[in-house]
Amino acid sequence: MFERVALIGVGLIGSSISLAIRKHDLAQNIVGHTKSSESTRLALELGLADKMYPSPEEAVENADLVILCTPVGTFETIARKIGPKLKQGSILTDVGSVKRFVIDKVVGHIPDNVHFIPSHPLAGTEFSGPESGFAELFENRWCLMTPLKGTDPDKITELSNFWQTLGSKVELMDPNHHDTVLAVTSHVPHLIAYTMVGTADHLHRIRNSEVIQYSAAGFRDFTRIAASDPTMWRDVFLSNKEATLDILGRFTEELFALQRLIRTENGPELFDYFHKTRAIRQGIIEAGQDTASPDFGRSTSTISKTRGKSQEP
Ligand code: NAP
Repeated sequence: MFERVALIGVGLIGSSISLAIRKHDLAQNIVGHTKSSESTRLALELGLADKMYPSPEEAVENADLVILCTPVGTFETIARKIGPKLKQGSILTDVGSVKRFVIDKVVGHIPDNVHFIPSHPLAGTEFSGPESGFAELFENRWCLMTPLKGTDPDKITELSNFWQTLGSKVELMDPNHHDTVLAVTSHVPHLIAYTMVGTADHLHRIRNSEVIQYSAAGFRDFTRIAASDPTMWRDVFLSNKEATLDILGRFTEELFALQRLIRTENGPELFDYFHKTRAIRQGIIEAGQDTASPDFGRSTSTISKTRGKSQEP
């Protein structure tokens, strides 16, 4: 499909893309760049790239497809460096978890003869780094593409075909809409998980060992999400500030409403509320986004095979 693909960043997403490209034979050559010498060494050792370059601008030279797989806070600096070196007619995409911020920071550095088409594969785990990737990460997961007005439709199709070959279901979306949807489905849930685990940590009445020893399914699920990469999530919240704060405001209102129902011992309304939320869970299962089988974080065979259950950031 492509002669040369350049991956900037070879962590969970970059390494998974590389393994999936190899699995589906989508490129003759994969090259890359990453920040640390340790990840550079691992990328070569694991066969994630045929060649690693010390700078992003060297890595993108002559690449037909360039994919930014670093935290979104790094995109502007990288785009400024690679802009002049991008091959004429090539496609530049990214996997960033926010889209408006990425477009605003990147687009000014990209020459007109390069097709910049932002993407976001809704696929991930709480693991990070080159060793955490696996080729099946994108299978049966959505990939949202947010092309800019005037983008060549053939190039959009080309990139869409690429994601579909990796196993993704592709949807085109407006970038602002993407950010609001993801604030609800991913960003605020992560913030709540971080808060819940932080709250438990601050409860001096309960010793840490007790929190860990007697952790039940709810708390354990929160800790799994709260173990996600700190750099990535810091950047997500700082770059999707407005949508996050909007959804967080609505969440706080709901929380106060529930607080009152508990204080006033309003069992019927609490029951109705939980009944409605259960229906949403059912809808997610029917849409094929999860399975109905009980898990409680104990499916060790899946974890050892894939280094973590698929979770959408
Ligand atoms: P990760 O496992 O932590 O990997 C990040 C990679 O970026 C590492 O290879 C790191 O290099 C490299 N990097 C960081 N700063 C860099 C810089 N200034 N220059 C060059 N390389 C740099 O993170 P990830 O989970 O793959 O996430 C990468 C992107 O995917 C983020 O934009 C995130 O929003 C998006 N995303 C993540 C998920 C998820 O669940 N994790 C899902 C969808 C989209 P070193 O190892 O050398 O330091």
